[in-house]
Amino acid sequence: MTSKYRRLRHQAAGHDGSLTDSDELLIFKPSNKSEIDFYEILQAEELNVESHDDIPLRRWLPTYLGNLEVGVSSKVSISENAQVFQDLATHASALNDEIASSNAKPLVVLENLVKGFSKPNILDVKLGKILYDDYASEEKKARLSNVSKSTTSGSLGFRICGMKIQNSGKVARLKEEHFESAPDGYVCINKLYGRSLKEDNVLDGFELFFGNDALSSHRQEKVIDMFFKRLQLFYNTLLSEEVRLISSSLLFIFEGDPKRWDDLRDTDHLLRDEFLNGEDSDSCSDEESISTGSDQIHTYKTQLLSSLSLIDFAHSSVSKGQGYDENVLCGVESLIDIFAKMIKYKTEVH
Ligand code: ADP
Ligand code: MN
Repeated sequence: MTSKYRRLRHQAAGHDGSLTDSDELLIFKPSNKSEIDFYEILQAEELNVESHDDIPLRRWLPTYLGNLEVGVSSKVSISENAQVFQDLATHASALNDEIASSNAKPLVVLENLVKGFSKPNILDVKLGKILYDDYASEEKKARLSNVSKSTTSGSLGFRICGMKIQNSGKVARLKEEHFESAPDGYVCINKLYGRSLKEDNVLDGFELFFGNDALSSHRQEKVIDMFFKRLQLFYNTLLSEEVRLISSSLLFIFEGDPKRWDDLRDTDHLLRDEFLNGEDSDSCSDEESISTGSDQIHTYKTQLLSSLSLIDFAHSSVSKGQGYDENVLCGVESLIDIFAKMIKYKTEVH
């Protein structure tokens, strides 16, 4: 029997074990209660009237479709959307047949953020100076404090966790222990690389990521500029939201296939569409077009050349009444500074 599910093809960092369906539209990620709660609370909030003018936090997350518990009995939990519930029930029973899972973790079912990309390049940046939550053991707290102290997590409030990129001339300059070649001309940059970077050379990490040989320097600049704008919008979101993100990541994805750039005439969008607003949605209530320069924030069913998302909530929580999250805000501020520098250097070259 050929499997309906396979391992995630493109992953920048983190644990193995995530699966995707045959169309690669969804991902099924081993998860825990904190992460499920985080997604469910934010999803429920969406129904309320927005409490502030900034982009709601939920819009930066992959769409959450529900969670599955495979094992002796499969349990499906999801919002009201009847079609999605049906689909998930089908996945649950199919996965049950495939996973030997007496002690399997619950799976969160998420929109696959690389769907639509032909040659995705992916960067995982972990946010925050403090990397452990209240539930960590003393041993884990000590270990993660050390990681923070000895890396840019401590100095800048973020750390490059890993990348999956197309091979480029820049890769040859890396230390052997920092990367591994992958099929199809890809390279995986491991966590040791990001841990080796310091405040004064962390920019190299971003130049490695964006210095994609397949894209013209004009296209590379466009991508950097889009992320610069997104980071500023994301910063404003964080100022208006009350959450505690511990060990969550920003996932940067851009298209490395020049053909898709040609096809889309280099037109990109700042935000992803709502995944569940499928083709047959008649309301199109999201059709507002807030503009930043010539880049539309939102149009219906957009095709993307790059995207920024927030992922990984295994240690994060919603913290109503406690104000914004200082621990990650400083990291996003540092990122904005770095992108501003990259843009400045590029314009000086011209
Ligand atoms: P963990 O770090 O606990 O293993 P993450 O949620 O950080 O789990 O995911 C690990 C990696 O999997 C990320 O670096 C990213 O490359 C990939 N990934 C996670 N969520 C998605 C998603 N919704 N779509 C596509 N890729 C994802
Ligand atoms: Mn992670």
